[in-house]
Amino acid sequence: AKAAGRDTHRFYAEAMNAEAVVHLSTRSGLRRALERNEFLVHYQPQVNLESGAVTGAEALIRWNHPERGMVPPGSFIPIAEDSGLIVPIGNWVLAEACRQAAQWRAAGLSLSVAVNLSALQLQRSDLVRTVTQALADSGLDPLLLELELTESMLIQNTDQVIDNLRRIKAMGVQVSIDDFGTGYSNLSYIGRLAVDKLKIDRSFIADLTSNHDSARITAAVIQMAHSLNLTAVAEGVEDAGTLEALRQLRCDVAQGYFLGRPGPAEAVERAARTAIPF
Ligand code: C2E
Ligand code: CA
Ligand code: CA
Ligand code: CA
Repeated sequence: AKAAGRDTHRFYAEAMNAEAVVHLSTRSGLRRALERNEFLVHYQPQVNLESGAVTGAEALIRWNHPERGMVPPGSFIPIAEDSGLIVPIGNWVLAEACRQAAQWRAAGLSLSVAVNLSALQLQRSDLVRTVTQALADSGLDPLLLELELTESMLIQNTDQVIDNLRRIKAMGVQVSIDDFGTGYSNLSYIGRLAVDKLKIDRSFIADLTSNHDSARITAAVIQMAHSLNLTAVAEGVEDAGTLEALRQLRCDVAQGYFLGRPGPAEAVERAARTAIPF
């Protein structure tokens, strides 16, 4: 029994080692990826539900790995967060997205760009300086930049986080709560932190037309957003029926495969020029 226990122990140790090796290789891979410019940003159009116009896009990072091909963010963002590399990676996305939105503006298109922030970025004392720098380098109007945070990031609302948000808002940058409805149920932060938009989580939108609970929750979130003077955004719209239901509920903005998949900036630009009004 003792030997078997030792074997089991060794088995776990080896399995953990293998996992650590994969983890490490991705971590050093991430550092290399930054140096070798292997990251790129895809953009997903956001559509105004009253006019049908494309009003902006969400920036979503992609990793074009030399051997593994296109790696989705879900498989490297958590590692980037653990290792702290999310800070330089996130800053790179911010700078790149601002540059792109400024380029759209120069081409005559007034499109906002939404950038996902990580908890580590939000907690840093140099966040405001980083955002200011990205805006100055690109020449982008702060009103066209939007930062997406999640509810869980606002739970640990330290003085630093509150100060960062206050100063970012003062610059005119928009702030939205991502994946809304999946996090904490304490909503007091919404009024206190003066956010601009609520992005209703994809899980509610996915079965909006088939599940009464999802439909009621979505309707309630849209009403709450409006009574607080916030913009309601639906993400994960995959079909015409869902789009129509959201328009009936007076949701303001929508995003999803039905309206456009994440892709190169040129695709958003094309969609913005050719959007068919509802
Ligand atoms: P998210 O911020 O909730 O982004 C939306 C995700 O839903 C994206 O996945 C997008 O491609 C996907 N999506 C959009 N429309 C639909 C739809 O109609 N149906 C379905 N099933 N999915 C849809 P993606 O690009 O794989 O990104 C996953 C997550 O990775 C993001 O979730 C975000 O949390 C994170 N992420 C992406 N880029 C960045 C970044 O630059 N910084 C940070 N910190 N996180 C990022
Ligand atoms: Ca997001
Ligand atoms: Ca989301
Ligand atoms: Ca998310």
